[in-house]
Amino acid sequence: MPELPEVEVTRRGIAPHLVGRAIAAVAVREPRLRWPVPRAVGALAGRRVRAVRRRGKYLLLDCGDGHLILHLGMSGSLRLVDEGSAPGKHDHLDIAIGRQVLRLRDPRRFGAVLWTTRPPEEHPLIRHLGVEPLSRALDGRRLHALTRGCRVRVKPFLMDARRIVGVGNIYASESLYLAGIDPRRAAGRLSAADCARLAAAIKRTLRTAIRAGGSSLRDFVGSDGAPGYFQRRAWVYGRAGEKCRRCGTAVRKIVQGQRATYFCPHCQR
Ligand SMILES: [Zn+2]
Repeated sequence: MPELPEVEVTRRGIAPHLVGRAIAAVAVREPRLRWPVPRAVGALAGRRVRAVRRRGKYLLLDCGDGHLILHLGMSGSLRLVDEGSAPGKHDHLDIAIGRQVLRLRDPRRFGAVLWTTRPPEEHPLIRHLGVEPLSRALDGRRLHALTRGCRVRVKPFLMDARRIVGVGNIYASESLYLAGIDPRRAAGRLSAADCARLAAAIKRTLRTAIRAGGSSLRDFVGSDGAPGYFQRRAWVYGRAGEKCRRCGTAVRKIVQGQRATYFCPHCQR
């Protein structure tokens, strides 16, 4: 599933090809995505893309009088292809800009293509999203405030998009390892110092993943799953029974909220 780093890599990859350019044509080959693609999307030709922003895992194409909201769902990817390149079976949407086509491929069709003329931050899908982990808004102080009174364990806390948006399963385990925090601790019991380390660890983990995805920026953007380079170099994720890279203790795997959590019982307290 594309996570925040993949979506950010996608944004950085496509933005230079879209911003300032006019949409020549839009082809909606399959409108039955997670929600029906609105008719307005098919009528975007002539509008100029002013900016490509991201909120959580949503990409927002600012078209002046409205925003195209894109979500990659479980299996979606966005790719820039040359005009005239034949679409495949799962290529559901094309946005032609200049001599290129921004093409959405989504085999499982859990992705979304929506249009809003209201401020996108007020959209029902976006309104309730929590703080952006890579923004300045998330620091130790903010994290400490967010966790007060929370009995939920810190790992599922990090993955709750209403609190902090876009920290997926892999990144939650990796961040807690870097911060030296046991994933089973109650979020509300973290100290101010714990929260300062954890906020920094979240940013470091996500930035590392974005950098790892950067090598694929040129013509292919977006992917299924985490960037392979990052997974191979994970501190704990997917390494149950293997030696902790710092202390040699066997990495443990537990299940929290039906998701696998990996941690080092020696390094994380
Ligand atoms: Zn260790």
